[in-house]
Amino acid sequence: MNMDIRYSIVIPVYNEEVVLCQTYQRLKQVMDTTRESYELIFVNDGSSDHTLEMIKSIRAQDEDVKLISFSRNFGHQIAITAGMDYASGAAVVVIDADLQDPPELILKMIAKWKEGYNVVYAKRTKRKGETWFKKLTARLFYRILSASTDLNIPTDTGDFRLLDRRVCEELKRLPEKNRYVRGLVSWVGFKQTAVEYERDERLAGESKYPLKKMIKLSLDGITSFSYKPIKLATYAGAIIISSGITYLVVLLLLKIFSKSAIAGWNLVLAMQFVLSGVLLTMMGVIGEYIGRIYDETRNRPLYIVSECYGLKNEERIVKD
Ligand code: UDP
Ligand code: MG
Repeated sequence: MNMDIRYSIVIPVYNEEVVLCQTYQRLKQVMDTTRESYELIFVNDGSSDHTLEMIKSIRAQDEDVKLISFSRNFGHQIAITAGMDYASGAAVVVIDADLQDPPELILKMIAKWKEGYNVVYAKRTKRKGETWFKKLTARLFYRILSASTDLNIPTDTGDFRLLDRRVCEELKRLPEKNRYVRGLVSWVGFKQTAVEYERDERLAGESKYPLKKMIKLSLDGITSFSYKPIKLATYAGAIIISSGITYLVVLLLLKIFSKSAIAGWNLVLAMQFVLSGVLLTMMGVIGEYIGRIYDETRNRPLYIVSECYGLKNEERIVKD
C-alpha cells in the first residue's frame, strides 16, 4: 500500500457532466491548501452522459486524479465502497459530486482527524434548496432508523465524512451486499465526532436519487441494523389474540347473565380473532429465527479490536 498519499478523496459520480469541472476545481483548490499529498478518486457509476470522457480529460492533465469506472449503474453506496477499496491515503474523505457538501469543510475534518478522531462526519444543520418532501422523508427516515436500532447512527448525516485508514480497512472486511455505509461506519466504532454545516443547494443538474432509490436506501438502512419490523408481527398477534379472548369472555358472560340471544356470527368472529392472532404470533416467532439466520449470513465479524497489548496479534491490529 502506498502510504505516501495522505488524503484520498472519493467522489461518486453519476451523470454529473454539468458540475464535474467545478467540483474538480473546488476540490483541487481546497486540497492544495493542505500542502500535503492527495488523490482525487472519481468513481463513475455507469454514467450515460459525458462524465467519463470529462474525467479522462481531467486526468490527462492532472495525475492526482484517479478514475474507477463501473460497467453499469451500481448505485451510490457501492460506488463509495469501491472508492474506499481503491483509496490508499492515510485518511479517506467521501464527498458528493454536486457540491452540496462544501469541499472547504474537508479542512475542518482534517483538523479533527489530526486531533485524533478516526471518523469525522458532517452533520447538516440546514438543508437548502431541497423539496419539503425530501426533507420530510429524510427526517422521518432518520427518526425511524434510530428508533428501530440499538446502534447509535447519527441523525442528519450523509456520506460526507472522513475515515482514517484503520476504519477504512475494517469497512473493507464487511462483506455485506446491501450496504448502508453510514450505518456500517457507526457499527465499526472507534473515536467518532461531527462537524456541523449547512447543506447547500445542488450546484446544477438534478438529484440522482429518485424516490425508488431513496426507498431502497432506507430499507437497507433499517433491515441491516434491526429486525424490529419482524417483531411487529408478534406484537400485533398478541394484541389480536387478547382482543379475541376478551370478545369470547364477553360473549360467555352475556350468555350466562343475559336472556337475549347472541347471534352465532359473534362466536365465529371471536374465533377468527384468536386464530389470526395465533398465526401472526407464529409468524413473528419464525421471524425471530429468520432474524438470527440473517445475522449469521451477513458474515460480519463479531467484534473489532481497537488496541491489543502483550498478545501476538494479527497485522491489522495496531501495536502500541
Ligand atoms: N450517485 C451515484 N450513483 C447513483 C446515484 C447518485 O454515484 O446511482 C452520486 C451522485 O453523482 C452524487 C451523489 O451520489 O455525487 C449523491 O447523489 P445526489 O446528489 O443525486 O443525491 P441527493 O443529494 O439528491 O440526495
Ligand atoms: Mg446531492
